[in-house]
Amino acid sequence: MFRADDYVKVTSLAEAYELCQKRSSLVVGGMVWLKMTNVTKRMVIDLSGLGLDQIEENEEEFSIGAMCSLRQLEIHEGLNTYFGGIFKECTRHIVGVQMRNCATVGGSVYARFGFSDILTCLLALDAYVELYHGGMVPIKEFAARPVHRDDRDILVRVVIKKDGRKAAYISQRNSSTDFPLLAVCAANLGNQWFVSIGARPAKAALVEFTEDNFDTIKEMAKQAADAVSYGDNTRGSGQYRHSLAVVYVRRLMERLKGRSVSR
Ligand SMILES: Cc1cc2nc3c(=O)[nH]c(=O)nc-3n(C[C@H](O)[C@H](O)[C@H](O)COP(=O)(O)OP(=O)(O)OC[C@H]3O[C@@H](n4cnc5c(N)ncnc54)[C@H](O)[C@@H]3O)c2cc1C
Repeated sequence: MFRADDYVKVTSLAEAYELCQKRSSLVVGGMVWLKMTNVTKRMVIDLSGLGLDQIEENEEEFSIGAMCSLRQLEIHEGLNTYFGGIFKECTRHIVGVQMRNCATVGGSVYARFGFSDILTCLLALDAYVELYHGGMVPIKEFAARPVHRDDRDILVRVVIKKDGRKAAYISQRNSSTDFPLLAVCAANLGNQWFVSIGARPAKAALVEFTEDNFDTIKEMAKQAADAVSYGDNTRGSGQYRHSLAVVYVRRLMERLKGRSVSR
């Protein structure tokens, strides 16, 4: 069981940052994950009074506050229209609506879980995380950073550039609402492709390539799926995950190219 003695609802990011420099304190999102752990802290720091629960859109980008819920991503019309419904697709299988109303974007991205649908989805886009101390960091760089217990920054928001990328997302689950055993997001801009493969069961990784050197989508998909490693866990073997990835990457690419999707 997660335990903490004190709860502080901060009135500024500066206050939150100062408080969370102590090893005994922790910034929290929706606490959906934390409540399942055995972590004990002296203080939890709540960001919910800072107005970070908004998704803002302008001509250049979407800006998603760290305290936005996964449900907000799922139903946001602007985000889903611009990116072909991938935010609905990457969230709708996560547990249930009540849970998605509590789990936050900040907690989901900062924790960089290996099974994360959200990280897999964002990685295929031109996305950045804004860290209070570390500034703007491309999501690709942030995702690759190891998760350290002593890392004490605060994720303020996620920014996604409207660069014209078309995207599609799919995940495979052994049963509805379970953790994914594979998650794939593909995005296309001109002749450039961005394929993110997560739940391998390792953290999502991005494969980028141009289509100039290939004759067929099948070849490109195979090369993208082969570029990352796959492991075994209770949900599936690495070999099974790789076989799924080859097919799913191809299907997403065919969909984005407006081709009929073959089996
Ligand atoms: C039963 C269950 C099933 C799940 N299934 C899936 C799934 O299928 N797919 C999927 O993608 N996810 C899944 N999740 C994860 C979930 O979607 C969230 O990612 C998770 O709950 C974390 O979000 P939270 O708001 O609850 O974060 P919390 O539990 O509050 O925090 C998680 C971590 O992030 C840190 N943190 C939180 N906010 C910030 C911030 N702004 N800045 C810095 N650090 C911060 C905390 O210190 C903590 O270390 C599941 C979770 C549960 C409990």
